[in-house]
Amino acid sequence: MRTIGHYIDGKNTDVAGQRLASVFDPSTGVESAKVALAPASVVDLAVKAAAQAFPAWADTPPLVRARVMFCFKALLEENMDKLAEAITREHGKTFEDAKGEVTRGLEVVEFACGIPHLLRGEYTDQVGRGVDAFSARHPVGVCAGITPFNFPAMVPMWMFPVAIACGNTFVLKPSEKDPGASLLLAELLAEAGLPAGVFNVVQGDKEAVDTLLAHPDVSAVSFVGSTPIGEYVYRTATAHGKRAQSLCGAKNHMVVMPDADLDATINALMGAAYGAAGERCMAVSVVVAVGGVGDALVERLLPKVKNLKIGAGMDAHNEMGPLVTREHLAKVTGYVDTGVKEGAKLLVDGRGFKPKGLEGGFFIGGCLFDHVTPDMTIYREEIFGPVLAIVRVDTLEEALQLVNDHEYGNGAAIFTRNGDAARTFNYRAKAGMIGINVPIPVPVAYHSFGGWKRSVFGDRNVYGVDGVGFYTKLKTTTARWPTGLASGAEFVMPTTGN
Ligand code: NAD
Repeated sequence: MRTIGHYIDGKNTDVAGQRLASVFDPSTGVESAKVALAPASVVDLAVKAAAQAFPAWADTPPLVRARVMFCFKALLEENMDKLAEAITREHGKTFEDAKGEVTRGLEVVEFACGIPHLLRGEYTDQVGRGVDAFSARHPVGVCAGITPFNFPAMVPMWMFPVAIACGNTFVLKPSEKDPGASLLLAELLAEAGLPAGVFNVVQGDKEAVDTLLAHPDVSAVSFVGSTPIGEYVYRTATAHGKRAQSLCGAKNHMVVMPDADLDATINALMGAAYGAAGERCMAVSVVVAVGGVGDALVERLLPKVKNLKIGAGMDAHNEMGPLVTREHLAKVTGYVDTGVKEGAKLLVDGRGFKPKGLEGGFFIGGCLFDHVTPDMTIYREEIFGPVLAIVRVDTLEEALQLVNDHEYGNGAAIFTRNGDAARTFNYRAKAGMIGINVPIPVPVAYHSFGGWKRSVFGDRNVYGVDGVGFYTKLKTTTARWPTGLASGAEFVMPTTGN
């Protein structure tokens, strides 16, 4: 059986004697590979390689670094199908959806191609008489990325293209559930001309993460994953003096106003709730039906949820694949059981769904709950599966209250034709990313991605200009040349004077 290992200093490394975990094809439930779980000593090797590569890479002109990104972008395009297939075979999402994921990652690479412009400093003449000031952005050093299972290519690409283009070196710790794509990305970066040691991959679990968080040579940690782990990563990394950002769990609400275009709303909702089997941090998991629109929504949704085409992700006919693991299937099924127990009305029950010939796969059908209330577990907690909850309220004010009272604040959307309602919602909703008639408002690469409340820890979003800020530190110089030197010692705090 294939063993997926680490990539350190430009080479695949020996994994003999290391702990192993199983990787599955979620559509069949069959184990497809083993993944090595790096011990601390292997993580240390990766960090050392990254630390050694750092000075030369940081000294490399930004334009030369950008050229590597241009080549990497071209290689991503050439290898799109190969990457997408690797994702589908380990994650389960449909092949077209996997291509969409790679494309959204590629867009960050395109952003990083513009790094010379993004790193341009600031300069002010004559801040005092004969005195000038200028600021420049310097790379921070070795950066670590700890990433979740649900976007095994895109989420790493939210991080490393920007980090590397800024002159940093990088150690990626991908999810152990679908580790394959990380090594393909490493190969493509090497082919694009990235020097050995600038990008490294360590496969692993808590031991690898903890080693990165405490390692004295790691300067910055980016995490994307669940809220409890993200909070732990943020607290531990910052306690060790590192800069850190954790992007975490979500419960994204879509508010549907009575004047919304219902057909467009339903189409948007189907993709946003059931695409990737709900395993997206920006998936819509709650619909807030305002002012009596609930019945019309249910009438249109019901047949569509019942008729979702579910099966293997590589079969182009399917709209939705399986969940990622057997454990995750059990967890999602358990949430549906709880919803029923707590009194929500289960309109479509996907529990026990098994596509013909794929009885061993980790499948669940689309589930739809109506009359969900804010005290219910299925409303409060992130399910991360194809389970949509409808909550009914009378007014936009109540809908906003729900959005704002929820512990998560990743994304929130409103569907309406009323500009006033849209503006009010946009201004007052406590979430980091808002959609107005857009169900999954993941910002494009030259904006930045991040939530509010317990969907995030840290003060910088990923990618975009915030990403450049996270992966660089500012140096500001105040300079005076001999003709402007003062004649004697100055004992008072210097001011601009006149
Ligand atoms: P997860 O938190 O279980 O795992 C994320 C990473 O942390 C993985 O690399 C994993 O190996 C590591 N990890 C797991 N347990 C750990 C522990 N005890 N100590 C140290 N490290 C540990 O998340 P997941 O299940 O892979 O991904 C799904 C979650 O990610 C969902 O909550 C989803 O909302 C979230 N997510 C958020 C965003 C965002 O941008 N906000 C994007 C994608 C996914």
